[in-house]
Formats: sequence, C-alpha cells, structure tokens
Amino acid sequence: MVDWSGGNDTGKSPRQDAIWACVARMGRAEEPVYLRNRRVAEDWLAAFFDAETRAGRRVLAGFDFPFGYPCGFAKALTGRKDAFAVWGWLTDRIEDTPQSNNRFDVAADINRRFGGEGPFWFNGLKRDIDGLPRRKDSYNNPFPEKRAAEDLAKGAFSCWQLGGTGAVGSQVLMGLPVLSRLKKRFDASVWPFEPLTNSIAFVEIWPSLTLGAGPDGAIKDAWQVKEVARSVSNLEPDVLDRLLEVDAREEGWIFGLGHEAVLVDAAAQPPKLTNDCFALPPGVHWTPVAETLAMLKTRLQPVTPIKTVPICAAAGHALASDVVALRSSPPLPNTAVDGYGFAGSKDAGIHRMPLVEGRAAAGDAPGAVPEGFAVRILTGAALPDGINTVVLQEDVSVQDGEIAFRGPIKLAANTRRAGEDVEKGEIVLTKGTRVGPAEAALLAATGIREVDVHAPLRVAVISTGAELVEAGDQAAPGQIYDANRPMLLDLIRAFGHVPVDMGRVADNRDQLSKVLNAAAKQSDLVLTSGGASAGDEDHVSALLTETGSMTLWRIAVKPGRPLALGMWAATPVFGLPGNPVAAMTCAMIFGAPAMARLAGQAWKEPQGYQVPAGFSKRKKAGRTEYLRARMRNGQAEVFASEGSGRISGLAWAEGFVELPPDAADITPGILVKYIPFGSFLT
Ligand code: AMP
Ligand code: MG
Repeated sequence: MVDWSGGNDTGKSPRQDAIWACVARMGRAEEPVYLRNRRVAEDWLAAFFDAETRAGRRVLAGFDFPFGYPCGFAKALTGRKDAFAVWGWLTDRIEDTPQSNNRFDVAADINRRFGGEGPFWFNGLKRDIDGLPRRKDSYNNPFPEKRAAEDLAKGAFSCWQLGGTGAVGSQVLMGLPVLSRLKKRFDASVWPFEPLTNSIAFVEIWPSLTLGAGPDGAIKDAWQVKEVARSVSNLEPDVLDRLLEVDAREEGWIFGLGHEAVLVDAAAQPPKLTNDCFALPPGVHWTPVAETLAMLKTRLQPVTPIKTVPICAAAGHALASDVVALRSSPPLPNTAVDGYGFAGSKDAGIHRMPLVEGRAAAGDAPGAVPEGFAVRILTGAALPDGINTVVLQEDVSVQDGEIAFRGPIKLAANTRRAGEDVEKGEIVLTKGTRVGPAEAALLAATGIREVDVHAPLRVAVISTGAELVEAGDQAAPGQIYDANRPMLLDLIRAFGHVPVDMGRVADNRDQLSKVLNAAAKQSDLVLTSGGASAGDEDHVSALLTETGSMTLWRIAVKPGRPLALGMWAATPVFGLPGNPVAAMTCAMIFGAPAMARLAGQAWKEPQGYQVPAGFSKRKKAGRTEYLRARMRNGQAEVFASEGSGRISGLAWAEGFVELPPDAADITPGILVKYIPFGSFLT
C-alpha cells in the first residue's frame, strides 16, 4: 500500500506528507518505507514488483489517489470515454523532477480547453497562471465536482482541488503518469477498469475511509499505510473478491467503500501463519522435546476469527483481549453471615445494644443506623451506614428489642470489604484465558455483559494408508481397521475444539491432495496420520514438500516417528505418525498445546507430579520417553509391554510417565514424573 504525495522532494529524514509504502503478507506488515520523492518511489516500486514477479507471487498494490476523474472528463479531454486515455494524456505532458514539476501549468492548460475557469483550481506558485483560478470564487467547473465514490466517502476531497490541507488533485496529476509507466512495464491490471487477471494489480485506496490519525507521536501517513496493508492482506480470498466486485468503469472507485465494516473486522483479526513457520535452522538433526515445544510456542499464534459474544455464550472460547472489571465485587461492603451489625470493635465482656426497627437483607439499598444501635442483618446485605462489624446470630441473645453478646469481637468481623475480591478497573481475566464455568461467574460478577473471544478451532482429521478400512467393515487379509481417526476425533473434542472428519485416503497422492484441499477449506488445522516419514508411500510429506513449506521434525521422543509439519492452502498441517500409540502420544504432547495456542489460548504446560515409581526400567540417554502409565496405591505403574503397536496399552493407561532424555536406572520407589491424561485436556 502506498500513501502518495504530489509535492517536491521531502528530504532525507522520514516525515509527514511524504510518500510512504508498506508491504504486508498474510496479515503481517513490514516496517513502512519512506520514499522522499516520486523518482525514488517509482524505482522502489519497480524493484519490488520485479522481485515479487520473479518469486512467483502476486501483488495487490494500493495507491491513495483517484485513478479516474468525474464522468464526462475523459471524453471531453481525449475524445475517449476511457480512464487510461487520461493516464496517457497526462504521461505525455507531466514533467517531474525531485525539485520541481509542471502540474499547475498542465492543469491550467486543461482549464483553458474548457473556458479557463475550471475544472482545476488552486495555484501553489507565486506567478499567476492564465486559466488557473487561485480560489473558488472565480471558479466555474464544466464537470461534476466529485466522483460517485467521493459523494459516498465522507470527507473525501474533490480531485479538482490542487492544494490546501487534504487536497488530492496534485497527487492525481503527479501519480497517474507513474502508474501509467509501471502498468506498461509490468503489465499490471488496474481496478476497477479491468479484471485483475495479471500478477500485479493496482487498486485505489483511501486510508481515512476507516482509519484515524494513529497514536500520538506516530507519522500519520506511515501508520495509516501500515494499517491498510495489514488489514487488506488479512482479508479472506472470497471476501477480497466480494470487495472487488464493483462496476465503475469510467470514474474508478475506492477499494472497500461500502464495506468499511469488513475492513475494520479484517484489521481486528489475527494474522495468518506464514509458510515458513515450521522451518528449522539448517543442520538440525534431532530436536529435544523441550526445544520442540519452545519452537511451537514461539511460532504458533491464534488463527481463529475474533467475535464479540454475550458471556453466556463465551464458555469454551479463548478471550481475545484482557477483560477489565466494570464493577467492584462485592460492589458494597456487606455481611458474610446472618447476625447483628453495629459499629466498632467490642472488648471482652458482655455487650448490650438496642436494635433499630426492621432489618437489612441482601438486595436492600443500604440504610443508616444511629450511633449506639445494632441492626438485624442477613447474609449478603450491604452494611447500612454506621455499621462496620457483625456478630453471628448464634452468639447473640435477643430480648425486648435489645441484643446481648459476649466480646471480644474484632472490628469488621464477619464482613466483606467493597472490592475485596475484585476492584473496578482491575484486569479480571487476561487475553488467552479459556472461559470455563468459574470465568463465566467472574465475568458476570464484575458487570461484564460481552467479551471478545476467538471462534472455536476446527481441526480436520485424515487417516492415510492403503491398508486401512472403516471400523466394522469387511477387512481383507492384510487390511487393518482405521484406529487413529476415532481416537483423534475424540481427542480434539476432549481438548475443547471442533473435530472435522475427513475420512480415509489410500496411499494416492492426487486423492490426498484433493482431501487436503477440502480439509483446508473447512478447518483451521489439519491432522493427518500415517505417511509422514520419507518413504515411497509417505504421501503426506511428499505433498507438503511440494508446497515448499514442509519440515520433517525429527524429535528425540519415544514413542514417535518424525512429525511432518507444513502449510497447505494457508492452513497448518500436522503429519502425525501412523502408529496409533505414537500418534496419540504426539497428539497429546505436541498437538494439545499447539491446538490451544491456535485457538487463541495462552501457551500451557501440562502439569505433572513427582510420584514413586512402581516399576523397574533401564533407559538409555538420548530420547524423552513417554510410558503408558497409571496411578495405583500411590505409585505409577507402567504397561507391561512398551511395544508401540499395542493399542490396548493406551486404553489401559490413564497418563504418561515422562522420562527425561538422560540415561536412567529406575527402581521401585524412585520419583518419576507422572502426567495424567487429564492434564492435556481443557
Ligand atoms: P505409516 O506412518 O504410514 O508408515 O504407518 C505406520 C504404522 O501405523 C503402520 O503399521 C500402519 O499400518 C499403522 N497405521 C497407519 N495408520 C493407521 C490407522 N489410521 N489406524 C491404525 N493403524 C495405522
Ligand atoms: Mg502408511
């Protein structure tokens, strides 16, 4: 996205009202680039388009000035009702150097062709120019003041005004020749005059359509251009298509006009994962478990859309922003018990006080109690004025309108301070918290009606392998039942996400690629099982390798084979091992935290406990091992066979014993780390 300028060179150091450009990809913007004059800008744009074309990428380039003039002008000036005819006409006449240009003379030349009083006005030079009015009083415009788009865009300027704060006229005169040359050189398509079929496409933008001036101290143009770039690059392809459906062949149109809410929403959405998000540093061979988790933690981020929902609909979702208490809890000082309220502390000994009439109950507005009196008060009631201490009713005798009790009673006994739980204005829950029953209660208690949350994560599951048949179907010799799919679908549900069943695929690359396409459309993450190594029938890794996004993560873990991680149609894919024990272990150890993160939750470590081993085992140094285990009689038992094909052991187990990479000689009674399966769940 480019914020253009019609003036002269703006000097070495970055400043306002200069040309600013910003590149964004997949919702992530780079730092804005300061371009001191149009020559520098044209060279920078050409080099950028060149590099992107060579890399096989497409560019949607936005420029913040009108690509066309109000209707009738093109025909009157050039004889053709064609915006490009005006581009060519101007390109032939505009002279431009960093120090000076002839825009006012060209504007005057145009005016003289139409009687010399318009359409252009404003003269930024000392000398008068025949045919160019300085002000609007002697002005007579034979054309409409504004394009249809400017009539709709509140605050947009007319392209006929060549100067003054906010004026855009000079930018058009000085910008169209540059676009005209770049269009020719890169065969760019220009919206909305042509279908955007070519790799470089130009659109007209207007940052102020949805943006203010940015934070204090920021250079407005730089900030705006970065925000526009970020949000436009964050639009879903089908939404972008919808925004580009405009019929304005003569005058042109402002991108996003009439769809402002869509742009604002795109700006609020998290960026997409990049294609290289799973890349490992070169030369890495075996990655320890801890390092693998650390990498997933830094590289993954929330991917699901953010929406505002009532707190009752927030359960199961991750908060997309911190939540601040709108009211203190409790809002007023109140009593924690049923009893009698009075003022001050009471020493040892018997105390007697007259009772006021009536009582204070929960929900009553706090009244007032005169000095020396006590009041009957019920749990939850706000303390009346003059009352700060409560004595339990069980400790009081009441007779003839008077209470008596035995001290000592401390000041403020049996009461709750206003805001003792949460103070108004305090952050009650932080971004990334998954809302559960306790969080819902806290939100309600602190006066919150709605929260911003991430939509649930949709996780697609695909089983791969020619040997697989559906559970219960007729199985030929050599075939086995697909055990991973029911397991993974249920794990995803247990993690609190939405499983999407994509079925089974035989070892067939075309078919798998079709299913991956469908899965990427319907989900935010794809889990495959099987075919993830580097063998002949390992089609998951082969296909991900073709996209250039794949890394085979060789993790020093047992059970486990390499994990194939990559991107398919902008959707992350986790290629799990086929072996069910390895698949479930990897799905828990690596999948659970990764999915939580993608769903918008803060990174979480499953909690384990040091417990005495109820088994013996010698372990070599190198890999982290996860033994299928369960707690019995205060000790961790492990499944008799470590064979990684033994699904029965998964069902037997209730958790893992995690043995760190070091060598170990474990005997009964030695402390080992036990992680219950429940630690991986929500
Ligand atoms: P692969 O990773 O494709 O080489 O498969 C490793 C082992 O896991 C092979 O013995 C497969 O038959 C088995 N396997 C793969 N997928 C499944 C599945 N969905 N259910 C049960 N076993 C599987
Ligand atoms: Mg296989």
